[in-house]
Amino acid sequence: MVKENLFEVQKRIEAACLNSGRDPKEVTLIAVSKTKPVSMIEELLDVQTDFGENKPQELRDKYEVLPKTLRWHMIGHLQRNKIKYIIDKACLIHSVDSLRLAEAIDEEAGKHGIVMPVLIEVNVAKEPSKFGIMPEEAVAFAASLSHFQHIRVNGLMTIAPFVENPEENRKHFRNLKKLYVDIKEKNIDNVTMCNLSMGMTGDYEVAVEEGATMVRVGTGIFGERNYAV
Ligand SMILES: *Cc1c(COP(=O)(O)O)cnc(C)c1O
Repeated sequence: MVKENLFEVQKRIEAACLNSGRDPKEVTLIAVSKTKPVSMIEELLDVQTDFGENKPQELRDKYEVLPKTLRWHMIGHLQRNKIKYIIDKACLIHSVDSLRLAEAIDEEAGKHGIVMPVLIEVNVAKEPSKFGIMPEEAVAFAASLSHFQHIRVNGLMTIAPFVENPEENRKHFRNLKKLYVDIKEKNIDNVTMCNLSMGMTGDYEVAVEEGATMVRVGTGIFGERNYAV
């Protein structure tokens, strides 16, 4: 069941790529497995390598028991005191939204002698309830991260508004892509724009049409989450 869902999502990503003249190879599907049991992830091991989690301890726990060939994406809001759980386990942190957090990631990565790839989370629709840098502050924020030795800024991420009709988010995805191009053109030291993480179950096809290189799909693969248990 989970595998069929995954194939369906892959098929739709390919169709969205064809629609917009893109190569499907440019888009990485991240299967967002938060709250879901390891057994469901195991059903996908022969067809999927990239998984996303939003809680550091949950990412760590799943990492420990699953094959080390998987790639784990830290996609949720990250508290500084929890970086230690994921610093040597995540392949990419999608949610850098403050200088203090970047500093703390840099410090932890330094302890492990690694360079951590990160994305800047942008609150592209300026929703009061959401984390993320305001779009107009993103260029300066990217520049403020350029001196860190143990992190490398690889792109941008956004969580678009929850909408009924995914077309409503097209303008936000387009704006994030513009910002991505703007930042790329500034040639800031240590900042390369190669990942644009946008699109979730409700709107990933529109996000792909607007240039996403990573989509984060949970419900569409694993089904509804039950936070009560
Ligand atoms: C949960 C989550 C997703 C996946 O959401 P779905 O709507 O279930 O696809 C994507 N990105 C982030 C940051 C999330 O926390």
